[in-house]
Amino acid sequence: MPIKQNAKTKFIPNPEQMALMPDISGNEINGLGETEARRSKPIYWQSPELTPFGPLMEWFYAQTPDDERMKAVQRHRAETMAVKIPPVANIQQEKNTAEWTDLVTEIGKQNGADIIGIAKMRPEWVIETFDVPHPTVIIIGVAMDFEELKTAPDIPAAAEVIRQYDRGHRVSRALTTWIHAQGWEALSFGGSGNVPILLIPPALECGFGELGKHGSIINREFGSTLRLAAVVTDMPLNTGNRDVFDVDDFCTNCRACEKACPPEAISPAKQMVRGVNKWYVDFDKCLPFFNENMGCAICLAVCPWSRPGVPENLIRKIAKKKIR
Ligand code: SF4
Ligand code: SF4
Repeated sequence: MPIKQNAKTKFIPNPEQMALMPDISGNEINGLGETEARRSKPIYWQSPELTPFGPLMEWFYAQTPDDERMKAVQRHRAETMAVKIPPVANIQQEKNTAEWTDLVTEIGKQNGADIIGIAKMRPEWVIETFDVPHPTVIIIGVAMDFEELKTAPDIPAAAEVIRQYDRGHRVSRALTTWIHAQGWEALSFGGSGNVPILLIPPALECGFGELGKHGSIINREFGSTLRLAAVVTDMPLNTGNRDVFDVDDFCTNCRACEKACPPEAISPAKQMVRGVNKWYVDFDKCLPFFNENMGCAICLAVCPWSRPGVPENLIRKIAKKKIR
């Protein structure tokens, strides 16, 4: 069972968990302080044997509380995953790129996506040890319900995370099934595990929003509530553009997530990670709390952008300030 701790008291990790900590720092694996660009290495949510943090991942799964709501969402996700994706059809349908792009967006939304974006794949988005030759990535965004998210790190928020990853899987599997039926190659990567590519960089590239200080995307409509999934494909598709609305500046002055994070894993300043100066969450500090508190998500819950209706107001205020 997870050790429930008051988020305001100093967090003391469970020694049973700490005994599984590898000798290498997760920040080192992630390339914190490295000035050269390189592909990221497997660290979490891949097969446990690929990462020194594998035993901690297994420990996390073993902490799932014996709760009916958690069991129900897990059952539902297993049902989603059990549906087979048919192979690629023998006859390839032809349409122009704009038509395919409209159809992909429509099919994604019909199957439950809140946002669909498209980017050209880049080698640096493929995690080391994996090979993803497909030229295009479709990113799927599904938003968490704020009423559930705000209970983080308690069961309703944890169940909501699983429920939304289930939705991400359903959309990515439906899109893959549909692309196969058109005679094009596609692979479904629901966001909750065994994904061989990074999801945040292509999501930023195709217009999902900006990176927040908490290390997650802030979207102009759904704030910090998005969970991501993806499909890679060779279907010819048009790509989206970045969406910048100055969240980056906003994060410099807002300290809500930084102050709320129990293990103080969120840094007040950007840091160099694999050649990019960006917001970065300290992996070694976050992980023990995350593992003992059902995936935590406090930083997403306290972000002002997560509250329904607030992003619109904040964007207006930021734009007004810029004009003055
Ligand atoms: S998820 Fe990690 S970074 Fe976010 S509040 Fe929890 S411990 Fe801190
Ligand atoms: S809580 Fe504030 S600092 Fe943290 S990500 Fe949200 S806006 Fe940025």
